[in-house]
Amino acid sequence: MRIGLYPGTFDPLTLGHLDIIRRACSLVDRLVIGIAINRDKGPMFTLEERVATVERECAAISRDTATEIVAHPFENLLIHCAEEVQASVIVRGLRAVSDFEYEYQMVGMNRAMNDDIETVFLMADAHYQAIASRLVKEIARLGGDVAGFVPPKVAGELVERLRAQKFAAARV
Ligand code: ADP
Repeated sequence: MRIGLYPGTFDPLTLGHLDIIRRACSLVDRLVIGIAINRDKGPMFTLEERVATVERECAAISRDTATEIVAHPFENLLIHCAEEVQASVIVRGLRAVSDFEYEYQMVGMNRAMNDDIETVFLMADAHYQAIASRLVKEIARLGGDVAGFVPPKVAGELVERLRAQKFAAARV
């Protein structure tokens, strides 16, 4: 049984993430989506919301690919999380060259801690390669249409969250 761990913040889950998840499913029997709590980044969506979104949006992929997909919140070191869920591979998505330097260092450090766990890099379909959660939030904040970047329900949730934030700000 091959287990993979795909870690990230998923704030919010994008079509880029989902494309990587679908591709990763062809490599493993169980894919654990490690959802970083990431308090420092001040996520827009709570951990519970991000877990629920991953579970909801991955159900069809799990069915189509006959791969078990599990959402797993984590706050500890990535390599410890991988050991905990018994993953033999860590899956990361690679976008531009800018991702490379950080990922290169991460692999080096993780290998020093556990050389038995491989890191595998996947590239999303060309349509989705430029998508980044940070930019999706920025576009939504400025009133742009994010329908091409996130699943329809996530687009609705983004609009709702921003509306609630504006309302709260107007009251203070
Ligand atoms: P992190 O906080 O680790 O950057 P993200 O949720 O932004 O978390 O991303 C999780 C993983 O998904 C990372 O490996 C990132 O490179 C990858 N990823 C995000 N968006 C894309 C995309 N559009 N194409 C390919 N990989 C992506």
